[in-house]
Amino acid sequence: METINLTSTIDRGFIERVKRQSGEDPSACYQCGNCTAGCPYTPFFDYPVSQIMRLIQAGQRETVLNSRSIWLCATCETCTTRCPCRIDVAHIVDTCRNIAFKEERHTEKEIKTFYESFLASVKKHGRLYEMGVLMRYNLRSGHPLTDADLGPKVMAKGLIHLFPKNIKGRGEVERIYEKFAKMRKDHG
Ligand code: SF4
Ligand code: SF4
Repeated sequence: METINLTSTIDRGFIERVKRQSGEDPSACYQCGNCTAGCPYTPFFDYPVSQIMRLIQAGQRETVLNSRSIWLCATCETCTTRCPCRIDVAHIVDTCRNIAFKEERHTEKEIKTFYESFLASVKKHGRLYEMGVLMRYNLRSGHPLTDADLGPKVMAKGLIHLFPKNIKGRGEVERIYEKFAKMRKDHG
């Protein structure tokens, strides 16, 4: 676990941005540690989620946005359900990941590649096409054979399919994506 340097410049704009974008108030956190105690990813994070909250309170923009934790978070929402202050902690972490994404800070590049593969699949087919996600992710991450040995086993069980099954309203799903992309462009 790394030592947190709170003597760095406090970025008050970052505190306000996280607050505005998430609709949550990180200053309400009193560092009880309940979120970290329940988070299944604590052993893998460089900063446990309660420390991420403290870093946000302290306006430590660079440390938060460059952390591995905001990318490794699985959005399981255990932290949110355990918080006695009713803070949606998972949404705050997600907000930080979005800010990092927009600023092209991808501490965990393969996770970003997985997100992009997942979203591209839903946009194209209106639902998840697992095989397509796997192929796209494997090719883009530079590990073309990752989990290839599992393919025949899961296909035999009917868990994933060779060809996509598009939904009827996939054009509408695509329009949602386009609308969101426009909103993001217009409002930053
Ligand atoms: S949502 Fe993320 S930070 Fe919260 S408990 Fe789950 S993995 Fe940990
Ligand atoms: S559970 Fe809530 S109050 Fe406690 S440390 Fe986590 S965010 Fe802060």
